[in-house]
Amino acid sequence: MSFGFHPISKEAQIRKVPIKQRKQNNKPELHKGRLIPKRSVRGRIMKKDYNEALRRHGEYCYLCGTTVGLEAHHVRFRSNGGRGGWRNIRFLCNEHHRGKYSPHRDEGVRRALETVHEELYGPWYWADRYDIFKAGLIPTPTEECFERFMAEEERKARYRNIDVDCSANAYF
Ligand SMILES: [Zn+2]
Ligand SMILES: [Zn+2]
Repeated sequence: MSFGFHPISKEAQIRKVPIKQRKQNNKPELHKGRLIPKRSVRGRIMKKDYNEALRRHGEYCYLCGTTVGLEAHHVRFRSNGGRGGWRNIRFLCNEHHRGKYSPHRDEGVRRALETVHEELYGPWYWADRYDIFKAGLIPTPTEECFERFMAEEERKARYRNIDVDCSANAYF
């Protein structure tokens, strides 16, 4: 019988860190030679996006209309991959951001707000240029590629209902 040294298998060596655990790490990563910033950076709301969200979505609470005590809310939560870009930001008063009917405490309110943004900007409303790049939908993660992609998504979202009506007419 041998009690010699038995190194771990090749497979086990390659899979030292489970994929799930790797994804949860809040660290910068490389994807196809590009550096992808860490999650906490991508969820941050920059001044430019904050101002653009105010301009596009209105300087008032989405739930009650007050203009007092506004807070920027991530429509898709950061914990669910939502980023800090203006398409994912809506303003709520602090009562509606933290109170009983806040999207953070009421599942229905959260989903309703997500649906509003999906209908406005398409299914990638919550994403940033790195998400779109990693999904293989743009060749490089530049602001220009991203904005062109999102403009097309917005156009598609706007005409989605009309498309549904047209195909219904064509087939029935
Ligand atoms: Zn409110
Ligand atoms: Zn929030």
